[in-house]
Amino acid sequence: MEVEPSLPEKTTNMSKWYDEVLARAELIDIRYGVKGFIVYRPYAMEIINNFLDMFKKELEDNGHRPALFPLVIPEKMLRKEARHIKGFEGQVFWVTHSGFNPLEEKLALRPTSETAIYPLYSLWIKSYKDLPFKLYQSVTVYRYETKATRPLLRGREFLWIETHDVFRDISGAERQIEEDVAIFNKVVKDSLGIPFLHLKREDYDKFAGADYSFAFDCLLPDGRVLQIGTTHYLGTNFAKAFEIKYQDEDESFKYAHQTCFGIGISRILAALILIHGDEFGLILPFDIAPIQIVIIPIPKKEYPDDKLRKYIDKVKEKLMENDYRVIVDYSEKSPGEKYYYYDMKGVPLRIEIGPREVNNNQITIFRRDLRKKYVISSDEIMETIEEFRKDIIKTLRARAVDGLNKSIVYAESLGEVLRYVDEGKPIIKVGFCGRKACADELKSETLGYETRGYSLMERENARYCVVCGQEADHITYLAKAY
Ligand SMILES: [Zn+2]
Repeated sequence: MEVEPSLPEKTTNMSKWYDEVLARAELIDIRYGVKGFIVYRPYAMEIINNFLDMFKKELEDNGHRPALFPLVIPEKMLRKEARHIKGFEGQVFWVTHSGFNPLEEKLALRPTSETAIYPLYSLWIKSYKDLPFKLYQSVTVYRYETKATRPLLRGREFLWIETHDVFRDISGAERQIEEDVAIFNKVVKDSLGIPFLHLKREDYDKFAGADYSFAFDCLLPDGRVLQIGTTHYLGTNFAKAFEIKYQDEDESFKYAHQTCFGIGISRILAALILIHGDEFGLILPFDIAPIQIVIIPIPKKEYPDDKLRKYIDKVKEKLMENDYRVIVDYSEKSPGEKYYYYDMKGVPLRIEIGPREVNNNQITIFRRDLRKKYVISSDEIMETIEEFRKDIIKTLRARAVDGLNKSIVYAESLGEVLRYVDEGKPIIKVGFCGRKACADELKSETLGYETRGYSLMERENARYCVVCGQEADHITYLAKAY
């Protein structure tokens, strides 16, 4: 009764694998009819809500409070920080009419919310006693992407969390950026098993209006990287544009220092699907799975049905008492069809119960991540599941970390870079001078590898730029990106 894999190979045919999993695991429907806009089906939203709650808890434990600002931003607000609008102008959706009449002032659909939120901050923040001031909102944002759209990876509407924090000085702001990184690590790497590069973006790639930006890039099976989060030090740039000033202890008025942190919820879901899945479908970490355990009855003709049900109900009750999300599938489908279905949905644990299990006071338990079956005594259910719960995330994370580590190489020269590109190495580290001209040359020579930035920890190891030969400022990471 084993299931045959039914999906294309993930690394060689990622695009087809992805489209099929989104449809067959009932995650996303792409037939809404507006380009770049997708429908999140219940199963996708249940997964999202489970890891969204983790982010919210971490942010709130870190002193953030929830808020909700309007979707629309008046044009004059959006234009207040000059570099900011320059960075987003080409991607803004505008509301221009109410019914038949043109609006007096155009309204932008938020591409990000600095210019929606900071006018209010200038009213709320008066004194150093009001600081630090930290808010977050979990919303959709709108950007008219001109590149080809892909469900969850690049859309014109996507889900994210954004934080907007205000501090007295740069040291408070920089401490926050470290805390943002710690939050991202805890949820994305520890709980979701998704490893990522934590890189300071090159100066020419920083967020529009920021002094500097850090980003989190994960690696997808097709060898391209995906930015799934960013945290920015805004300096006093927005504070000056929006008059966010506070009176300090010495009674002087000072501009506040600000940070903002974007968590790409839609993209994190894409990474979760793509990084952990296999030729049987999704594989979900236990803690965020909408169904953590499915029980499949294995009826036999001559065996009394009520005896089987009684045993199953007892097992189910015990699991529910321990707050596991568990279902029993009594439907008419064959056990094989059920295996196939729950494998595709990535349900972490499957329990099979038939006459043999009842008679021996046992259960058969299947781990989706290892595709391995275990027969255990029914007295050991709870400790076994608890052990598996912890081990599943360890296994998924270790596999993904190994995949990322194996994909990074270091090149001493442009010739070596090109050799690695030919070999299909996804991430290449090189000495780099930090100039845009050299980055452009690298991109055209490698047919698409971009400078993704650098790790502060590797800064000293740089010697010379692989393009111009000048002394290198740092080691940059090259990769193709979504
Ligand atoms: Zn250079």
